[in-house]
Amino acid sequence: MKYFKPDYLFEHFTDITITWLKEHQIQHIFSDLDSTLAAHDQLGCERFENWLAMLHDNHIELVIISNNNQERVDKFTEPFGITGYGKANKPTTTKIEKIMKDVGAKSETSIFLGDQIFTDVLCGKRLGMTTVLVQPIGPEHEPWNITIKRKLETVIRSQW
Ligand SMILES: [Mg+2]
Repeated sequence: MKYFKPDYLFEHFTDITITWLKEHQIQHIFSDLDSTLAAHDQLGCERFENWLAMLHDNHIELVIISNNNQERVDKFTEPFGITGYGKANKPTTTKIEKIMKDVGAKSETSIFLGDQIFTDVLCGKRLGMTTVLVQPIGPEHEPWNITIKRKLETVIRSQW
């Protein structure tokens, strides 16, 4: 079950500080959207805006990789002018490998950020990136299929 274990566990995306990113020489952040950067189907908050400004100031690119539809991703990304891809089919990596090429990202200087071990952490590991797991934002808004996955995650996490 160690296979699903992320390299780092943080409470919230804002715990990923510029000091930490520089220490790990990170240039690209590939991130899940729902429950990672905002509650399910919600827009970005001021904390997100400030965190994004910090990334921009330090030339670190954020690319959103979501299994949700493109319409949802666009609704979130458009106010901030950032790049995001929907229907990414995580944990498969074909689409993301192409995106990495397009944005000029390397596995060694990228992290994969997300709130789910079966999709986000597994995907990041397959891509050879450093993986960061955060606590889900607003779990009360999650669809039932994700609620079931969380229960399975709890079983796996108890074995780390
Ligand atoms: Mg998520």
